Amino acid sequence: MDLYEYQGKELFKRFGIPVSAGRLATTPEEARTAAEEIGGQVVVKAQVLTGGRGKAGGIKLADSPEEAGQHAEAILGLDINGHVVRKLWIEQASDIAHEYYLSVTFDRGEKKALFMLTKEGGIDIEEVAANRPEALARLHVDPLEGFQPYQARRLIYGAGIDDPSEQKQILAIIEKLYAAFVGADSMLCEINPLIVTPEGEVKALDSKFTVDDNALYKHPDIAEMRDLEAYPPEERAAREKDVTYVKLDGEVGILGNGAGLVMSTLDVIALAGGRPANFCDLGGGGDAQGVTDALEIISADPQVRSILFNIFAGITRCDEVARGILAALDKTNIEHPIVVRFDGTNAEEGRQILLDAGRDNIHVASTMLEAAKRAVELAA
Ligand code: GDP
Ligand code: MN
Repeated sequence: MDLYEYQGKELFKRFGIPVSAGRLATTPEEARTAAEEIGGQVVVKAQVLTGGRGKAGGIKLADSPEEAGQHAEAILGLDINGHVVRKLWIEQASDIAHEYYLSVTFDRGEKKALFMLTKEGGIDIEEVAANRPEALARLHVDPLEGFQPYQARRLIYGAGIDDPSEQKQILAIIEKLYAAFVGADSMLCEINPLIVTPEGEVKALDSKFTVDDNALYKHPDIAEMRDLEAYPPEERAAREKDVTYVKLDGEVGILGNGAGLVMSTLDVIALAGGRPANFCDLGGGGDAQGVTDALEIISADPQVRSILFNIFAGITRCDEVARGILAALDKTNIEHPIVVRFDGTNAEEGRQILLDAGRDNIHVASTMLEAAKRAVELAA
């Protein structure tokens, strides 16, 4: 889960990393009030789950509350890389002497956390890595040894930071960033820019913070930060109902049980000359409620023209799934053609239940390929 800048900064603050004071605003009026409360010059920052906001006009300095309101007016509703701005972070403006870059992420190849630090921050780090790799200090932290202060010193010297006061402050920030990275089960903690003010104070001016979805159960406070409004409506419904749902670009909605089966169903649809519109994975479940939820979510996607149910039942029982399909059709007004392929536990019973129901939008197929061909035909 990606966090907004202001949420990442909230976590930075909890772990003792210095950030500027700020307030959240969703209207120009709130932005004005926030600027008034903060006092002095402020920066109005678009809160979107993408980078490059500065270049896109999503970050503006304001000398007065009125100006903050005007910038808010201009930035709210702006489309930044496909993300529409609905929230602003109004922050006390900082004077900047230097912009550095600091991050910690996973190096999956090395199976270790990887720190990167450079004095050439502010801009795209990819550019620095590509054009001036010697300016980018990199350092791995072994998860079993944990973080050691000498590592931070090595990183700081490697990046060529030679001012003793900066060294001291950045050392503390590196240590805290590692604590945040581990403590929040993060996949990425990035500070770009990490600034030095003219007075020599070092602080995080931006934050990019990604938390491992699979660890969110350990962090209910972070899980709550998820902004459901940032997702398309079907994805929001899927999250609320705990259904695994992925949006794709074609016409056939797919429901399967188990990631492997779902992936091969996508391939078979392609083989049959069609394109998947989306897919849901029922996992090991497949009770009537789960089937109803998934079917509602799949059919809510306006691109869906037909639906393919591909069930290979082990723990799941096909008769249960069949009853789920019928229950869903009773409860909703789904009229899409639904092609069903059952195999495994109680497949025969499941097929019989569907045939007995005599619904003309349900088509029973006996093999995966036949089912895929039928679903593609029906989507045409
Ligand atoms: P990003 O473009 O999405 O990475 O957003 P950032 O938060 O990194 O801001 C982009 C740039 O805006 C920074 O690199 C700064 O140069 C500038 N900026 C942001 N906040 C301030 C501030 O408080 N004062 C000044 N002078 N510039 C700022
Ligand atoms: Mn940035």
